[in-house]
Amino acid sequence: MPDRRPLVAANWKMNKTNAEAREFMDAFLPAAGELGDVDVVVCPPYTALQTVVELTREAPVRVGAQNMHAEDAGAFTGEISAPMLLELGVEAVILGHSERRQHYAESDAALVRKVPRALEAGLVPILCVGETEEEREAEETERKLRQQVQADLAAVDVGQLADVVIAYEPIWAIGTGKTATPDQAQAAIGFVRALVGDRDAGAAQAVRILYGGSVDPSNAAELLGLPDIDGALVGGASLHADRFLAIAAAAGA
Ligand code: PEP
Repeated sequence: MPDRRPLVAANWKMNKTNAEAREFMDAFLPAAGELGDVDVVVCPPYTALQTVVELTREAPVRVGAQNMHAEDAGAFTGEISAPMLLELGVEAVILGHSERRQHYAESDAALVRKVPRALEAGLVPILCVGETEEEREAEETERKLRQQVQADLAAVDVGQLADVVIAYEPIWAIGTGKTATPDQAQAAIGFVRALVGDRDAGAAQAVRILYGGSVDPSNAAELLGLPDIDGALVGGASLHADRFLAIAAAAGA
C-alpha cells in the first residue's frame, strides 16, 4: 500500500488582514519545522496570499487559495484565475467548499472544469464534498458523496486522480462544534476512497482524503488515527497558531 503523507490545511475563510496574517505566522513558524511527517497548507483570503507566501518562503508550509475560476482570464468580475495564483507562488486551491456551494452557487458543473484546470496549472486541488444534516438523517450520505465525487472528478485523467486531495466535510459539522464520530468519519471517507477505486484501484490507495468539520486539538489525534483519514481541513481552530500547531503535530505524529 503506498504511503500517504498526512496533510493539514488551514481554511481561514474571510478572516485575517495582512497584519493579522503576519501575527499568526510570527507565532506559527518558529515551531513549524518541528512538526514531523506532515504537509502543512495555509489558505488565507486572496488579499493576504502574497504576504503569507513571502513569510513562508523558507518554511515547510505551502500556501493555498480558497477558490479559483476555471478560465485563465476574461470578463468574470471578482474572480481569480490559476495563472494569477501561480504568479504569487500559491501551490494549492480549495475547490467546492460547502460555503461556496451554499452561498455562491458553486456547482458540480463548474467544479468539473476547475479541478482539472488546477491540476493542469500545477496547483493541488483540495476538493470538498459532504452531506447536509437532512441528507444524513435521510440516509442519503452515500448518494450525495457519490454524486459529488463522480461529477467533480469526471474530467480528471486517471493518471492524475491521486494528485487531487479530497476533503470529506459533513456540512453539519462545519463550524458547529459537532464533530463526526470516528465511525461516521471513517465510513464516509472509506466510501469516498472506494468511489475513487471505481475509477482506478491504485489511485484509491494513493489519494489523500482529509476530514473537515470542527477539528480541534482535543479530537484531532483520534480522527487522524483512523485508517482512511490522511489529514484535516481546519476552519475555526486554524485561526489560532497554537491550536493549528497542535492539530498539525497530531497529524505528523
Ligand atoms: C471548514 O470550513 O472547512 C471547516 C472544516 O471549518 P471548521 O473547522 O470551523 O468546522
